[in-house]
Amino acid sequence: MVIWNPWHGCKKISPGCLNCYVYRRDESIGKDAGIVSKTGDFNLPLKKNRRGEFKLGASDGVVYTCMTSDFFIDEADEWRQECWDMIRCRSDLEFFIITKRIDRFERCVPPDWNDGWDNVTICCTCENTERAEYRLPIFLSLPIKHREIISEPMLEEINIKKYLETGLIERVTCGGESGPGARACDLKWIKSLRLDCIRCGVPFYFKQTGAVFVKDGKTYHIERKYQMSQAQKSGYSYSPGTGAADRIVYRLPDRRALFERLARSAFRSKFCLTRADKEYIADKGLETIERHARDFVESRLAPENPQNDGEQTPMRGHPVFIAQHATACCCRGCLEKWHNIPAGKILNANEQNYITDVIMDWIKNWL
Ligand code: SF4
Repeated sequence: MVIWNPWHGCKKISPGCLNCYVYRRDESIGKDAGIVSKTGDFNLPLKKNRRGEFKLGASDGVVYTCMTSDFFIDEADEWRQECWDMIRCRSDLEFFIITKRIDRFERCVPPDWNDGWDNVTICCTCENTERAEYRLPIFLSLPIKHREIISEPMLEEINIKKYLETGLIERVTCGGESGPGARACDLKWIKSLRLDCIRCGVPFYFKQTGAVFVKDGKTYHIERKYQMSQAQKSGYSYSPGTGAADRIVYRLPDRRALFERLARSAFRSKFCLTRADKEYIADKGLETIERHARDFVESRLAPENPQNDGEQTPMRGHPVFIAQHATACCCRGCLEKWHNIPAGKILNANEQNYITDVIMDWIKNWL
């Protein structure tokens, strides 16, 4: 990985900018981060060594561009074309550009941009719902070959499923905020965004916890050196088919406490077995019903990313379906929320047995 900062300095334009690290770092050395100026590295992609070869080669990895400013900031309008010329010339390098100014994109691309360049990934940031709703429709309407989204610092729960469903987003990255005065990031928000990514088959990268991390309602202050490693260790990054979610450590809920919680839920507690359901169970026998439950769990819940997740369990038609809704065993989102079983992994035999047992316990309670 290489960092190429053709210019330095930026202007705050968004809630995510509040504790910008560029400002923090510049302040600490008495520099004004609000002044945008070209750097000595402006020509980095074209710089050559003594042998006349480019200093940067493809083996150096992705070129992260403009990390101490914004590539589309208006103060850099007169310099940007030269950067595009270098990016075009270095088609062997992969350039990664993160921006909070996606609304300036169209007026900032070169005339031969056409439907985008293969060696450029544009990454649109959205730290909250309001910014996501403003920026993502613009982002998706633009001619870009490779698109990613970053929600960092993540400031609240954001729902961007409808944008992920377009199939145009290649990856989502999220994380908390670092440094003094950091705002809290809640694991609940991370899990919710992750679930949307899983359901849409989009890789998800949980980059860092941030300095103030909330988990199960408890606030943790995390030292800078552990913020990335804790996120990696958590297993909450998701890449389809890699089995990464098997690393997530969790504990199944106490069965009695679970049923008490379910009874307190207005939605869950409204489910009941009708006389027809009971007659069906009596006719088939509990062993058969349990076999049906096991089959439903295996086929509709156990895959890493079940088809139609969130809508795979009908609201009627079989007593097991009713029991699944009543016990929050109806989709992977509910299994994660109520039973702590992480989404994005293939359910193992123990997990499938547990779910079947919960369903059957509820059914037996009604007989
Ligand atoms: S856009 Fe980025 S670099 Fe510029 S002030 Fe905001 S956070 Fe800092």
